[in-house]
Amino acid sequence: MSDPLAELNRLQERDLELDHIREDQSRIPEELGQARVHTKALENQLGGLQDQLREVRMAYHKADLELQDLKGKYAKAKQAQSQAQSTKEQTQYGEQMRQLEDRIEEIEGNDKKKIVGEIMPLMEQMDALEKQIEGLKASLEEARTRLDHLEAANQQRVDDLEATHQSKKAARDQLAAIIPAPVVKEYESIRKARKGTGLAKMAKTSNGYRCTACNVQLPMHVAQQIHQANKVVRCPSCGRILWKGE
Ligand SMILES: [Zn+2]
Repeated sequence: MSDPLAELNRLQERDLELDHIREDQSRIPEELGQARVHTKALENQLGGLQDQLREVRMAYHKADLELQDLKGKYAKAKQAQSQAQSTKEQTQYGEQMRQLEDRIEEIEGNDKKKIVGEIMPLMEQMDALEKQIEGLKASLEEARTRLDHLEAANQQRVDDLEATHQSKKAARDQLAAIIPAPVVKEYESIRKARKGTGLAKMAKTSNGYRCTACNVQLPMHVAQQIHQANKVVRCPSCGRILWKGE
């Protein structure tokens, strides 16, 4: 009869291969990772510019409303001045109009007096932001298209690995079925606890044997039990099932 631990060793090789496939599946390709970061950065940048544009537009509308209000008041004052009954009244309206005019100039600007005003810079900012947003939207669309392709390619890669995993898992289960069930069960629980291997080969040293998983020197009686191979012996240090090798 074949050595069940030799079969267990083959089982472990297959399990490690299956582990490797799972790791491969969860690994994000560098190009995809970069494309995700790049797209996210563009989205954040766009959001920031859109917020800025909203604020500038609000400031523009506020200035524009104030300007219309001031112009209305100015027209009324002018009307009142033309109907004024006294010089004193005329002067009062004139003073009011002068003050309104100052504020109107502050908002509207006055080229002759080299007053820039509030409206024009806000309009220029809106224009500049709209252009930037337009450009950024184009870049973002490009980035999203590229990201979609990379995501799809990665999904295909993961799916292909899944198919490989499934067929290899079926073959692995067939192999497991010919090994005594309690041995497989013990091996699996150790493998789970040790996050990887449940079986370790022992190796000859100058003065005895050692466990190849944790490198501890094995007591002679343990090494003897392993050579007899009539029961499952575990490493006294790491707890893995010890195998004498082929
Ligand atoms: Zn060990």
